[in-house]
Amino acid sequence: MNEHAIIKIVNDVIAELLPKKEVAPTPNEIPIGISARHIHLQQEHVEQLFGKGATLSVKKMLAQPGQFAAHETLQVVGPKGSIQNVRVLGPARTFTQIEISHTDAIALGIQPPLRESGEIAGSASCILVGPRGSLILQEGVIIAQAHIHMAPADAQQLGVQNGQYVSVKVQGRRPITFEQVKIRVADHYHLEMHIDTDEANAGFIQQGETGTIITGKMAGEPYNNFVSPPIEINHKIITANDVSRYQGETVIVPKEARLTALAKEAVEKLEIELQFHEKG
Ligand SMILES: [Zn+2]
Repeated sequence: MNEHAIIKIVNDVIAELLPKKEVAPTPNEIPIGISARHIHLQQEHVEQLFGKGATLSVKKMLAQPGQFAAHETLQVVGPKGSIQNVRVLGPARTFTQIEISHTDAIALGIQPPLRESGEIAGSASCILVGPRGSLILQEGVIIAQAHIHMAPADAQQLGVQNGQYVSVKVQGRRPITFEQVKIRVADHYHLEMHIDTDEANAGFIQQGETGTIITGKMAGEPYNNFVSPPIEINHKIITANDVSRYQGETVIVPKEARLTALAKEAVEKLEIELQFHEKG
C-alpha cells in the first residue's frame, strides 16, 4: 500500500471519529425518559419494610429536581409471581404507589389500571416484601399513562397547556406515535417525556432519544381520529378485577350479569358506565 492510500485511510478514520456536525434540535423535540418499574413509599411503609426509624438513602438523583433513585429495593409479589429488586424512588410521598409495565403485571398476575401518577383509587393490589417486614397493599399498583413534564416557559414555547393531551411521534428504527400523552406543567419540572419500558421497547427507544409533538387536544375533548372498540365483559359474575382498568369508560355486560360488592364499589369510584345488554 502506498503512502497516499494510507493517508487517505487515516483521514477517513479520523473523520469517522470526529463528532458529527450538531444539528440544531427543532423547538418541539422532547427528551424521553424511560421509567423502569419503581415504587414510591409513604414514610410509615418505609419503616414497616426497612425497620423502625429507617429513611430512604440517595443512590442517584433523577432528572426531575429533588427526585432520586434510592439504594432501597423491594420484592413485589402477586398471585402468579414476584419481581425482585424493584427500585424505590425518593423522597417518601404521602401515599404508596407502584408503577409497573403491562408485562410485569402479567408476570405478577394482576391487572393494574392505566393511570396518571397519584390516581390510585381502586387500583391493583400486591404484597411488598422488604428486609425487615412486609405489607399487603390493597391498592396502589398502576401502569403509568405516558406524560410530559415541563416548566411554564416550555409550555409557552411548545404552544401547549397543563392538562392537554398530545400525540408524540418518535422517529426511530421502529417509528411509533404515542397518543393521549398528558402535558403536566409545573415551575419545578424539567422538560421530559416519561414512558414505561413496554412503550420504549415497542419503539426500540433508548433513554435520551427525543420525540416530536404532532397533535394536541384539550382535556376532555373527544378524539376525532381515534375510535376505540366497545369494551365488553362476558362474565355472569363481575369482579372488581374485571372492571378496574376501565376508569371513565362505558363497559357492556350481559343482561343477567351480577356484580360483587367490590365491583360495585369500583364502578362507582371509577365512574364506569355499565350497559347491560341482551345476548343476541
Ligand atoms: Zn413523570
